[in-house]
Amino acid sequence: MGISIVSICKCCAQPRQETMNHMFVTGQYAADIWKMFSAAVGVQGPFIQVNKTINKWWDTKCSSKLKPLYQADPAIILWQLWKRRNTVFHGGNMSSHRVIYDINLNLIQLAKTRYPWMTNFPNSWPQLVQHLEQYRPHIQYILVQWISPPAGWYKCNSDGASRGNPGPSASACFVRNHKREFIHATGSRISDTTCLCAEAKAMHDGIIFCITQQYLPLILETDSLGTLNFELFTDLPTTTKRLVNMDKMHLPSLRFKTVIPREPD
Ligand SMILES: [Zn+2]
Repeated sequence: MGISIVSICKCCAQPRQETMNHMFVTGQYAADIWKMFSAAVGVQGPFIQVNKTINKWWDTKCSSKLKPLYQADPAIILWQLWKRRNTVFHGGNMSSHRVIYDINLNLIQLAKTRYPWMTNFPNSWPQLVQHLEQYRPHIQYILVQWISPPAGWYKCNSDGASRGNPGPSASACFVRNHKREFIHATGSRISDTTCLCAEAKAMHDGIIFCITQQYLPLILETDSLGTLNFELFTDLPTTTKRLVNMDKMHLPSLRFKTVIPREPD
């Protein structure tokens, strides 16, 4: 028959039985820590049991940016309380300031890891909550607009795409005159290839059609090839050039135009 030995806490002025709930939640020291971190975010006490305290943090409504922090916060507080308990239990000392500092540090490090693109993180939990609540992403956009070609000209817009690059691909082109009237449109699935070759294939089809039908002079407008900043076929990479194979055609009535970044007509 064994004799149960009850641990006495070292967190209260008048020591009590050191149960899990006392050590982590209801003891005066733990209660003060929970109160401090929950007051800043509106998590309502009282905190009586560990599992219910965790649930309260997890169930508190907040922005999506704060949710991971609210979920991690109880674990961080419990961990720091456990570290302090062990330090004190073995005769050491750990100030409240140090415990609060470490919890803050853990939460800020978590936010920095979770949101590496954000800057100017504050150094305390209440300010961190405010910072994330007020965060608004900086959105950039570019207006893409179809502009008519000069009178008497035609414009062919082409586009190609590859899912996987290389992977399943498709190309398409669309022709209009200077009155914005529809002339021709076509699109097709092509053999698996890269984005660049799909773009070149779309250009190729558009050019062949316009030359065959004498829709000239012509402006060919494309998009992603614009990143190559090419004006002549000779500027294209070899694989694409071979596919298009028009660099020797010397078409004086053909002009190239990129959509992004857009150039004035
Ligand atoms: Zn105690």
